[in-house]
Amino acid sequence: MSDRLLDLASHGLLQARLGMMLLYLLGMTQLTILTVTLYLHRSQTHRSVDFQPALAHAFRFWSWLTTAMITREWVAVHRKHHAYADTDQDPHSPYMVGIHQLLWRGTELYTAARHDSQLLATYGRGTPDDWIERHVYTPHCNWGPTLLAVISLALFGVGGMAIWAVQMLWIPFWAAGVVNGVGHWWGYRNFETPDKSANVMPLAIWVGGEELHNNHHAFPSSAKFSVRRFEFDLGWLVIQALSAIGLARVRSVVATDESPLSTTTARIVALAPRVKVMTEFFHKVTLPVVREELRSPSCRNQRLVSRQRCALADGGRWLSADERAYLNAWIEARPCLHTICQLRTQLAALMEMRNAERAREAYSQWIRIAQASGIDALQRFAQSLSEGMIAPSTLVVARAHEHPSL
Ligand SMILES: [Zn+2]
Ligand SMILES: [Zn+2]
Repeated sequence: MSDRLLDLASHGLLQARLGMMLLYLLGMTQLTILTVTLYLHRSQTHRSVDFQPALAHAFRFWSWLTTAMITREWVAVHRKHHAYADTDQDPHSPYMVGIHQLLWRGTELYTAARHDSQLLATYGRGTPDDWIERHVYTPHCNWGPTLLAVISLALFGVGGMAIWAVQMLWIPFWAAGVVNGVGHWWGYRNFETPDKSANVMPLAIWVGGEELHNNHHAFPSSAKFSVRRFEFDLGWLVIQALSAIGLARVRSVVATDESPLSTTTARIVALAPRVKVMTEFFHKVTLPVVREELRSPSCRNQRLVSRQRCALADGGRWLSADERAYLNAWIEARPCLHTICQLRTQLAALMEMRNAERAREAYSQWIRIAQASGIDALQRFAQSLSEGMIAPSTLVVARAHEHPSL
């Protein structure tokens, strides 16, 4: 009898080998990642997709069981992140708290923000508020992981506690650390959003599609995060599968020339005009001129590091004092680039103007100055603005009226 008990404590009910335990761990953590990206993020925070009620509750239960996160708190913190991304009001920006702090201690920032009652009242609206939320999930959020520890111990014995410990660290590291931290620090950008969001990798399968973070900041209300031909969003694949069997309904989605939709009844999400114009400006004006400068013989020993090159798209307020001083000197020595940087700053400012009349006036004046600049790329860009259209690019987003099926 005591041998049997000892055996149960060591190997649990399943008597599983290491390979099976690792498979179980991978399956459980991927389910949790999908719960975060599909339910908490795309559905509850941004309302881009609805799930059939029983499935939505299964997601909510899984979130409680494996993460102890409360839907309302997660949603509120994330909505505030979008409202103030990479400013001093952002609950978790690597530019404000440091990338290492965010990567390894991201949950502490989340915990501090979720205790802010004003934040919850302002940004937490529309989240579940039923009996089970008020009496179980919210007041007893730690019961979920405790129950999971008991299940893990029963299934795998002492090894189950190691599995449980990894599960408890999984979301804090991959979601709070990597997506919130690295997703605003390192990677490529398709769109010049006002923040520093970046796509960490095009094949977004490890964190359920969240790796495509710059695309998400450009189209926050889209259920689909991939926009380029070479990008893949695992979360979108799952949404499509759930839609096909009637368990999900997409409310809003992005469609681009590179990634069109065959058919949809959802609202097509368009790129915000400011993001569209600034993206076009960077790709059609700034980059060609910088490349030309870098090719000139006088530039042989005066390279720009990639952070400085990126700073030409956003004014460089993220740079260190030394990097900024070097960049400013580099720009000052090149009159053509100096003009472009000045006009980029003016264009970004006028795109933020609230007064329509003043904005129109400033816009016409900006176009006149750009057309008189004598810089080819800038003149062509100003011409496309004056004609009321940005020159087509592979990133131009299809407008709803271009989809007669809607
Ligand atoms: Zn973000
Ligand atoms: Zn978001």
